[in-house]
Amino acid sequence: MATASADLEEIPTVDLMTELLRRMKCATKPDKRLILIGPPGCGKGTQSPIIKDEYCLCHLATGDMLRAAVAAKTPLGVKAKEAMDKGELVSDDLVIGIIDEAMKKTSCQKGFILDGFPRTVVQAQKLDEMLEKQGAKIDKVLNFAVDDAILEERITGRWIHSSSGRTYHSKLAPPKVPGIDDITGEPLIQRKDDTAAVLKSRLEAFHRQTKPVIDYYSKKGSVVNLHAEKPPKEVTVEVQKALS
Ligand code: ADP
Ligand code: AMP
Repeated sequence: MATASADLEEIPTVDLMTELLRRMKCATKPDKRLILIGPPGCGKGTQSPIIKDEYCLCHLATGDMLRAAVAAKTPLGVKAKEAMDKGELVSDDLVIGIIDEAMKKTSCQKGFILDGFPRTVVQAQKLDEMLEKQGAKIDKVLNFAVDDAILEERITGRWIHSSSGRTYHSKLAPPKVPGIDDITGEPLIQRKDDTAAVLKSRLEAFHRQTKPVIDYYSKKGSVVNLHAEKPPKEVTVEVQKALS
C-alpha cells in the first residue's frame, strides 16, 4: 500500500535519507537469483542477510515461512506441522505454492536468495519452470559443503531472533547477553527441531532428497562449492568471490 505524504512527514529525515541512499545503491546492482543449499546448520541463514544487503535481494527461507504458518495455525501450518516436528520434508505442493507467492513481493524486484528451497528435484524442476515463464533463470547455486560431524554442535547451540532472523550460537557466535538479541534487546528462541534426535532425520532427508538437487544444478553448470566448515567471516569471503 502507498504511504500517504502525511505519514512521510512523520519519518525522521535520517531514516528517509538512509532509505534514499539504499535505493540509489540498489539501482546500480545487477539482478541475481540465488539458491543457498546445504544441510541444516551449514550457515545459510547466517550468510543470507549479508548477501541480501549487498545485492538488494529478498531472502526467502521456506523453513521460516512454514514456522510462521505453524505458529499462526493457518491451514498450511496445520498441514506442515507433523512433518516438521519429525524432521521430514513437507509436501512439494505446499512449499512450491508459498515460494510462487513470495517471489511476487516488491522486495524481490532485484532478485532473490532461496534458503532451504528447492529441497527435492521436483521442487527444482517446478522452480525452473516458474522462472522460465518469466524469461528468467537461477544464476548461481551456492553449495555450503560441510561434514555432518560438526552440525550437531552448531544446531544444538543455535539461538534465533525470530522477527529479524538474526542467528547466534551459545559458544560459536554468542550474543552480548545470553538469550537476548544484540540489536533490539528482545529475547532469543531455540527451535523445537534443533535437537540431536531430530537433526538425524533432517540430515537423512538432506542426503536422500536434497543432495540430488545439487547434482541437478551441477549438470546445468550453476553450482559453486563453498568450504562451509570455515569460520563465518571466511565463508563470507568465499561467497563474495562466488558472486563477484
Ligand atoms: P542454516 O541456516 O544453514 O541452518 P545457520 O546459519 O542458522 O544455519 O547456522 C547454524 C548455527 O551455526 C548458528 O548458531 C550459527 O551461529 C552457527 N554458524 C553459522 N555459520 C557458522 C560457521 N561458518 N562457523 C561456525 N558456526 C557457524
Ligand atoms: P529449515 O528452517 O530450512 O531447517 O526447515 C525446517 C523444516 O521445514 C524442515 O525440516 C522441513 O520439515 C520444512 N521445510 C522447509 N523447507 C522445505 C522445503 N523446501 N521442502 C520441504 N520441506 C521444507
